[in-house]
This record gives sequence, structure tokens and C-alpha cells, in this order.
Amino acid sequence: MPEGDAVRRAAARLDDALREQPLIGCELRWPSLAGRSLHGMTTLEVVSRGKHLLHRFDSGMTLHSHLRMEGRWRVRRTAEITPAAVRSRAIRALLATDRWTAVGYRLGLLELLATRDERRVVGHLGPDLLGDDWDAGAAGARLRRQPARAIGAALLDQRNLAGLGTIWTTETLFAERISPWTQVGALPDDALDGVLQRAHRLLSAAAGAGHEQALAAYGHAGEPCPRCGRLLRQGPIGEPPEQRTLGFCPICQTG
Ligand SMILES: [Zn+2]
Repeated sequence: MPEGDAVRRAAARLDDALREQPLIGCELRWPSLAGRSLHGMTTLEVVSRGKHLLHRFDSGMTLHSHLRMEGRWRVRRTAEITPAAVRSRAIRALLATDRWTAVGYRLGLLELLATRDERRVVGHLGPDLLGDDWDAGAAGARLRRQPARAIGAALLDQRNLAGLGTIWTTETLFAERISPWTQVGALPDDALDGVLQRAHRLLSAAAGAGHEQALAAYGHAGEPCPRCGRLLRQGPIGEPPEQRTLGFCPICQTG
């Protein structure tokens, strides 16, 4: 599942390709958007907020998308967009400029709203780890509101802070040697601050890397811990239906 770093890179790619260019073609293959078109509108910018993409147009409209589990946006040369190429049922959106076309595959969500109403769709998010206005103090205060909650589940909750999924939550807690099941209230302030700083560093590095980074713990269950040599494990965190799986080392992550 794409996390904040991947969504940030997708926004940058779309912004690079489409910014300041009018759309000469548009298809939105989404039931609630039937008959809607963005044809002729010019892209002002494409930005990410946590795992959400906001594509802003000069008409005062925003196309909001979310990749959910397996969605992605790709940028292709408009000259290469043939009828056969866009027949795929996985395609949910086509936004064509003279030169580049953005193709949205298997998007988890697509909606059109007034740019001034964006708060309705991203206003619930906590501080964005990759935002210019990232505020670790505010994120920490939100985490502290539910002291009995497991830190792993609390970090995944986008209302506390935006951008983390299971990959970077696993890596953050592994690096800080804290068990994902430690209650938030059991963490001293400096430990919680260390977690937030680490998450910020890891996600920022991943967003800039532009490729898959080497992961220390995520996806390595059953392999030796790079620190202590005992076997890494994975386990469920959170309550159904929000339950997710995090990796951890049962020896060198405490709590
Ligand atoms: Zn270990």
C-alpha cells in the first residue's frame, strides 16, 4: 500500500508533467463523476496531503484521489496514448495535455470538489510528516489523547499524523527499539519525540529517494534481526476492521 512518500513522489511527477498546461482531453471513469469533464481547465498544481492527492485547477476545482491499496498514477507521452492503450479496465482517469497524459490506475477514490472545500476531505488529517508545516509537537499532543492505545495503531491513524503506513511504522518503531504494542501513555516524552523525529526522517528520506529503499524489519519476518540476530516476527495491530500487520523484533524492541 502506497505510503506518504510514494504519494508525495506521485504528486511531484504529476505536478511536473501537467502544471500550467490546459487539459486537451479528460476521461473520469468513476460512477459518481459520469458526464463530468475537466476539459480546457489548466492545472495550477498537484500536491499531497498525507496519502491524499489534490490536483488543483484554475477553475477553482480540485480533483481529489487516493491510491488506497494498489492505485497509482503514471505519466505517459500523449503521443503514445492510443485507443488500445486506454482500453484497460484498470484505468480510472485520463488527464491529457499536449505533451503528457496522466493515467490513474486502480484508484481507491476519485472525486471532484471546489478547492475551497478541500478541508472537507483532508481536514481530519493530523500534521503531515512531509508537509512544510510539519509539527511534531502537535502530532505528539494528538497521540497523547489516547494513552491506552498501542503506539503502532496510533501512528497508523491518519488523524494523529498523516503519511505513515505499515512499512514506515514498522521501520520507525524498529529503529527506536519500541514494541508496536507499547501503550502511548507508557512512553516518556523523549521516547515519543524520538519516534516522531525518526518517522519524519525516514519518510522524508524515502520521499526523496525515488526508489525502493532497503528496509530493516518490514517484510523480513522469519529472518534474523540485523541488530540482535533473533528472528524477526510480525503481528496484528489495531482493532478490526482497521487491523493491520506490523513487523518487529521480539527481543530488542521493548514494551
Ligand atoms: Zn533484534
